[in-house]
Amino acid sequence: MRIARRRRPRVPTWAVVIGLLTGLLVVAGCWQAADQMRSAGVAARGGSSDVSTESPVVRVRVVAGERSVQIDTGSGPTQLSAASGNLDRRWVSSRADGVVVVNGRPYRGALRVLAQGNGTVDVINDVSIDDYLRGVVPSEVFASWPDATLRAQAIVARTFALYEFRSRGGRREFDLHADVRSQVYKGVEAERPSTNRAVESTRGMVLAFGPRGKERIFPAYFSSTCGGITQHGADAFGLENPVNGIVPLRARDAQQGCRESPRYTWPEFSVRKDELSRRFRKWGQREKHSIGGISAVRSVALVERNELGRPRVFAVTDSSGRKYQLSAEQMRNATNASRGEGQILYSSFFVPVDAGNSIRFTEGRGWGHGVGMCQYCAAAWGKRGDSEREIVLRSYPGAMLVRAYP
Ligand SMILES: [Zn+2]
Repeated sequence: MRIARRRRPRVPTWAVVIGLLTGLLVVAGCWQAADQMRSAGVAARGGSSDVSTESPVVRVRVVAGERSVQIDTGSGPTQLSAASGNLDRRWVSSRADGVVVVNGRPYRGALRVLAQGNGTVDVINDVSIDDYLRGVVPSEVFASWPDATLRAQAIVARTFALYEFRSRGGRREFDLHADVRSQVYKGVEAERPSTNRAVESTRGMVLAFGPRGKERIFPAYFSSTCGGITQHGADAFGLENPVNGIVPLRARDAQQGCRESPRYTWPEFSVRKDELSRRFRKWGQREKHSIGGISAVRSVALVERNELGRPRVFAVTDSSGRKYQLSAEQMRNATNASRGEGQILYSSFFVPVDAGNSIRFTEGRGWGHGVGMCQYCAAAWGKRGDSEREIVLRSYPGAMLVRAYP
C-alpha cells in the first residue's frame, strides 16, 4: 500500500503516507487502533509490571499479498510463489553484512515467506527490535532533526513496537505492519548515522504508566502535526485506560510547537452534500455505523470540543432531520472515504460551515490523529534545547521513562 518511495521527503514519510492513502487504510488503521486499545484496557487490569523483558525479535510484515517475491541471501536471487513448495524455511544472510534482500530491498535479521489462502505470499522479517528501529526512526522523522528529537522518536517507536509485540503474540503471524498501520519501516536503505545513534543511545528505553513495580507499557501513538492541541487517545479511538493518560498538551506549550509543519494549518475546501452523502454511506456500511443508511446530508456541525478546544464530536443531520453522531476521527475518515481526486481532511481539527449545496471545511489545522507525541512539536522542543526525556514526558503526561531490557 505504499504510494511513493520518496527519498528525503520534505515532510516525514508518516505524514506523506497519511496524506496520500485513501480512507480505507486510514479507517482500517483506526479500527485496528481501537482493537489495540481494547486489549490495552484488558492488559492494564493485570497486577504486576510488564516492562522488564529480554530484547525481543519482532515480526514485521514487509511484503503483503504478492503473487511472487524474489529473495536474495547473498548467493543469487530465488523467485518464490505460493506454488513454490519450499516456503517452510527461514532465509538468513550469507553476506558479511548480514543483510537479506527481498524484491531488491535489504533488511537485517531473517525472512520468512508465507503462503496465503488466495495464492499470494507475505514476507515476514524477523528482526531484533533495535535493528527494526534503525529502519523506523529515519522513516518517521527527518534524520537532520535535533538529536534529542531523534532519541525521543526512538523511545516512542520502541514503546509502540514492544506493546504490539506483547499484545499481538499468537493472534496473527506478525507483530507489526511496515506502514502507518503500525510504524513506517523501510529496512536498511532508510538507515542514517544520526538515527542509528539515537536508537543505540536509548537502547531498551521505553515509556510506561503506573506505580513503580506495576508499570505497564502502552501503545505510544504519535503523529506528524498536532496543529496546536493534541487529542486524548480515548477521544480519537474511543477507548479508555491506559491510553487516557495521553491528555492534551497544555496550550502554552502547544502554541510554541509545530508551526514549522507544512500542515500546521491548511486551506479550506468544499465538498458537495450529495458527494458527502455517498462517502458517509460508503464509510458507514464498511464500519457498521448507522450513517451507512443516510439518504442525504443536510448539515454537518461541530458539537463538542475537548478541554483545550480541539474538535471532539461532530453531528451530521440528514434531510429528514435524523442525527448521526461521529467522533472527530470518525468524521475525518468518513469524509475522506473514497474521495477520488479531491482534497482530504489532513486531521479532524477543522470547523464545518454550511454553504448551500456543499459543506466548507474551514480552519483546518494539523496532520494525523494528534494523539501522543507531535513530531513537529518534538522537533521544535529539540531545537530549543529540550532533552529527549523532557520531550517524551511532556508528550505523554503521567508516563515514566524506564529500561525494558539491557
Ligand atoms: Zn504539535
